[in-house]
Amino acid sequence: MCDLCMKHGAGGKWYLNSKHYSDKIAEQYNLRDFLLEQYKNFEQVSMRKVHGFNAVGLDYRLRMPVIGRIMKNIAGNMLHSTKPPSDPFKPEGHIGQVVPLEDAIAILEECAAEPIIEKNCMCRYMSRGIKEACCINFGVMSEIISKLPRFIPEKDKFHLTRKEAVDRFTAHNKKGYIGTIWFGPFPYINNLCSCENPECAGIRPRFDFGIMSIHKAEYVIQLDHNRCDDCRACIQKCPFKAIEINPLNKNVKVNLDKCYGCGVCRHVCPQDALYLCPRDTIPEVRGRY
Ligand code: SF4
Ligand code: SF4
Ligand code: SF4
Repeated sequence: MCDLCMKHGAGGKWYLNSKHYSDKIAEQYNLRDFLLEQYKNFEQVSMRKVHGFNAVGLDYRLRMPVIGRIMKNIAGNMLHSTKPPSDPFKPEGHIGQVVPLEDAIAILEECAAEPIIEKNCMCRYMSRGIKEACCINFGVMSEIISKLPRFIPEKDKFHLTRKEAVDRFTAHNKKGYIGTIWFGPFPYINNLCSCENPECAGIRPRFDFGIMSIHKAEYVIQLDHNRCDDCRACIQKCPFKAIEINPLNKNVKVNLDKCYGCGVCRHVCPQDALYLCPRDTIPEVRGRY
């Protein structure tokens, strides 16, 4: 179990604790007004100065030895904040975890507060200028969507039944998109996303700069060498470059350190040789999220 589960999971996984989807929390933290303000100005959030640092030249400054370390600490503390959210221009308490298809289905079937919608992904819009509907939202976010027209998909039906939400998420996952679940902001859970790396503004800080913006999944992939025929289809599919060629025998192997446990590599394996195991049962990666 990761630290998020230990602190917020009530004995299980934090994202399967239905308390975090409740209307009571939304009321208590006034999240209708907070999220409306945040999403109305979404494009500006990443450009605003935070603690005196602005986003211009961010990549360069994050790589500087001292300033980079200070900025990473500030960003980490802000993302992990458990204080009541106070400033819609800061990503306070916006922390997430990679989830494989099975857990995403459990979220949609058992926890997500209705109404459920699918809205345009803002990370892809801001980084590539395309509008693609693949962020599934619950509860409060779904209620305020009518006031945020640029997030509403033009072509697709966006109010979803639970079954439709499961079907949409499954289709994204099979395409190779990474399933992610987020406190948005803590302690309310309102997004189940289907992301790509490096476009996702939540995954990239972790992958490129080591900021703990997202935890690896509660799982890690295992490869059954008795089944694998070395076709190498999974190497291309892994968004984290965790599947490699063993230089000694030229066989395919998993780099467990790099594996985020998203499970999307399984969808292309013709031999059914890839399967997920709980992270804590594999000694090399136990406790390493
Ligand atoms: S978290 Fe993922 S799906 Fe959600 S807006 Fe960002 S990239 Fe898009
Ligand atoms: S190897 Fe790990 S990180 Fe890569 S696709 Fe498979 S589960 Fe995801
Ligand atoms: S896709 Fe399956 S069979 Fe092909 S190399 Fe990967 S694990 Fe082996």
